[in-house]
Amino acid sequence: MSQTLPLGTNFSRSIVQAAWIAAAAFLLAHASLLAQPALERAALWPANAILAGVLLRQQAPIRPLSWLLAGAGLALARCSLDGVLPQAVAGGLADLAGVWTIWLILARFWPLDNLRTPRAVVRMLLAGLAASAVTVAAGLLPGYWNPAAAPTPETVASSLLGQWLGYCIFLLPVLLLPRMEIPGIDRRRRDHGPLRHLRNWSARIPGALLVFSLVLCFLLGGPGALLLPFAALVYCAHTYQQWTSAWLALLAAVGVVLGLDAGWSLGPGELLASLSVWTRISLQLGILLLMTVPLLMSSALAARGDLIVSLNRALDHDDLTEALSRPAFTRGAQEYLRRIPPAPHGNGLMMLDIDHFKRINDRHGHAAGDNVLCEFSRTIREAIRPEDLFGRLGGEEFGLVLPDCSLEETTEIAERLRGCVEKIRLYLDSDEPLRITVSIGIAHDGQGLPAGLDKLLSHADQALYQAKRQGRNRWCAHGLETAESRADAPRARRRA
Ligand code: GH3
Ligand code: MG
Ligand code: MG
Repeated sequence: MSQTLPLGTNFSRSIVQAAWIAAAAFLLAHASLLAQPALERAALWPANAILAGVLLRQQAPIRPLSWLLAGAGLALARCSLDGVLPQAVAGGLADLAGVWTIWLILARFWPLDNLRTPRAVVRMLLAGLAASAVTVAAGLLPGYWNPAAAPTPETVASSLLGQWLGYCIFLLPVLLLPRMEIPGIDRRRRDHGPLRHLRNWSARIPGALLVFSLVLCFLLGGPGALLLPFAALVYCAHTYQQWTSAWLALLAAVGVVLGLDAGWSLGPGELLASLSVWTRISLQLGILLLMTVPLLMSSALAARGDLIVSLNRALDHDDLTEALSRPAFTRGAQEYLRRIPPAPHGNGLMMLDIDHFKRINDRHGHAAGDNVLCEFSRTIREAIRPEDLFGRLGGEEFGLVLPDCSLEETTEIAERLRGCVEKIRLYLDSDEPLRITVSIGIAHDGQGLPAGLDKLLSHADQALYQAKRQGRNRWCAHGLETAESRADAPRARRRA
């Protein structure tokens, strides 16, 4: 019984996966076929790219049954609209071969480890070209047996570009969609999409310019219409984050394809009628370049943004303990202390110093000392609020600022932190765990009265000195005459 349960679960999972993939393939191919009259000018075929994007987002392996039913879904959609079964099956299988190719390349051989780089976008475009070539080659196979139905080289080139254009336009926006895991993409590093820009007036300008240029494209048409949204797209790529730009580029590409039709239909009718295959190829190449420039630019800017964030992080953090560096701590602390209006409960400041740290270095070595510093820092960071500032002032001495925290609360937190540090157990070179303790000096800036950081630090330092003198593993607060914090000692506090 216990053995059949996982098998049954696996089986039902395969069925569920195959069913939804088949349904998605059918719906996408159906929608693409329905949109064909509108997208005819560029012979754009979005179904394969969107299906490939959806499959690439899957973390579970795609089972053979799913591929089989996906092919059936693609063929069924063609059959339901075209009605000729052999052609529908051939078309569906050609689509499936392309989708499988790009999935194989990007999921197995050449994985997209981080989409926020131009390299990944180029990789995606090349994989899209390979998939398009496979689809077109597979679509040519029936012509091998029936040479009368074999297409001309221009038609082959145009369908190749139509397929590739689908991958260029639709794949990246689908891959960048939020709220789902993408293999290799760190959730925290993804941006929050277009809605965040709507709150900011100045950030709406590039989007508004894009809409304006697309309207012009619709109204004017003509050969220049292809370039009308270009400047606005580059402006969007420069202003917005990557997935916003990718979606806007998608809208612009579809808008241009539709707009060229509308614009041309306002002009002399013969332009519409006389769209030769070579004109179509030129148009497809134009849209392809219109798309790739903003996609590459937004990914390059995303990569640069990530680099700046990591450089800033490296500058602001101590690389051993991951606490704030002394300059970043000082900067943040000064901002808290100078805040207007002042925090109602005032701000607490602590100086924490590991007791007898030199002995640890001497007995267990410098590396063990480093381990102790890391563990100490991790323990404190996990025990404080996100708005608290924890920084390394130097050696085994750390600072902690608790904004809007009364003196009473600060002493309670100091006691809690002292207890947390006392519980640390480090197993270094023996089975006997290494234990550490901390002494804490506390200062407080009063009931919201402004106080200089230097003055507070000096008060905390005096309190720390007092805690060390009284025997360590305790806290002392400046302004409280005595402060016994050890659980085994009576807590007597009097204001000096
Ligand atoms: P006390 O209880 O009075 O604070 O004594 P202590 O031994 O902790 O203080 P002391 O100032 O005498 O020694 C601090 C030691 O910390 C000396 C220095 O070698 C060591 N130290 C400073 N920075 C680092 C570091 O990054 N890694 C390691 N492993 N040791 C460090
Ligand atoms: Mg020390
Ligand atoms: Mg010290």
